[in-house]
Amino acid sequence: MKKIFCIGELLIDFIAENQGKDLAKAEVFTKKAGGAPANVACAIAKLGGLSKFIGCVGRDQFGSFLLDILEDNHVDISLAQRSKYFTTIAFVSIAEDGERDFVFSRGADKKLKYDSTIKKSFQDNMVHFGAATALLGGDLEAAYGRYFFDALTQNAFISFDPNFRGDLWKGEEHIFVKKCMPYVQKAHLSKFSLEEAQLLSGKTDLEECCAVLHEIGTKVITITLGGEGTLLSTENSKHTIPSIPVNPVDTTGAGDAFIGCLLQQIAGLHDPKEILEDIDLLIGMVKIANKAGALTTTNFGAIPSLPDQEQLQAN
Ligand code: ATP
Repeated sequence: MKKIFCIGELLIDFIAENQGKDLAKAEVFTKKAGGAPANVACAIAKLGGLSKFIGCVGRDQFGSFLLDILEDNHVDISLAQRSKYFTTIAFVSIAEDGERDFVFSRGADKKLKYDSTIKKSFQDNMVHFGAATALLGGDLEAAYGRYFFDALTQNAFISFDPNFRGDLWKGEEHIFVKKCMPYVQKAHLSKFSLEEAQLLSGKTDLEECCAVLHEIGTKVITITLGGEGTLLSTENSKHTIPSIPVNPVDTTGAGDAFIGCLLQQIAGLHDPKEILEDIDLLIGMVKIANKAGALTTTNFGAIPSLPDQEQLQAN
C-alpha cells in the first residue's frame, strides 16, 4: 500500500452557535478541528490507508488538541511541526441558508518549514496538495512549492484540491488562480467544486471547464456536485456518477471525505498511475468515494463524521 502525504493546515474552527450569519452578535462558539488537508489525512487513515500529515501547529494547548485528534484517527503525525507561534484559529458563523461570516487569525500553520529529508519518502508514493491557506504566503507557501518540486522529481502520484475560500481572496481571485496553475498543470488527479472549476478555467459550462483544465495539464478531473454526485473527466471521456441518497445535516468535510476515500483506494494499486489508463476502475472508485462523501453529511462536524470501512461497506 502506498503512503499518502497530506500537506497543509490544521487549525481550530470556532463555530458560532445559533446566531445566524452575524459573527459580531455571536456569544457561544464550539471548538472543532479544521483544515482540509488534515481532514483528508483522517479520511484516508479511518478507511485503513497510510496517511502522513505535514503541517504546523503551535506549542500551545490547541496544537496538542489538534495533533491528538489526528493521532486518535490513526494519522501518522511524525512529520508534523510545532512552532512558538499560536495555533491558527478561525471564527465562523453559518446562517441557515449557508451564508458565512468569517474571521481568521493566522498563526502557526504558516510557519511550516521545508524538510529536505522527507523527499526520499515521496518516491513512488502519493502526495496530496490541498491546503486552503498554503497559497496565502508565509513559510508554508515556500515549503509547499518545494514539496511540490520534490513530488514531481520523486515520481510521486500528485493529487490537488485548490480548496478555494472566497473569504480569503476577496478582490484577489486572479492571484489565487495564477498560484494554482502549476498544480493544475502537473496533478495526476484534481478535485474541484463547481465554483473552483469555473474560477480556474474561466468558463461556466462544465464541458468547457474540463476541456480547459485538461489542456492546462491535469489528467483526471473530479468535480464534486453535492447531492448530484461527481463529474469524472479524463481527456477521453466524461461520466456523471450519482451519489447515494442521504438526509444531510452538515456538509462540512464531504469533499475531503470524497478525495480521501478516492486516494485511499488508489493507494492500494501496484502503481497509482494505473488509474490514468483504466476508466472502469476509476468509475468504480468514484462510486465508493461518493458514498464516503454522502455519509459524512449525515452527522455534524467533519472528522467525527468520516466513515470507516465498515460503514462504507454497509451502505
Ligand atoms: P467541501 O465542503 O468539503 O469543500 P465539496 O463542495 O468539495 O465539499 P461536495 O460536492 O459537497 O464537496 O461533496 C463531495 C461528495 O460527497 C459529492 O461529490 C457527493 O458524492 C457526496 N455528497 C455531498 N453532499 C451530498 C448529498 N447531499 N447527498 C448525497 N451525496 C452527497
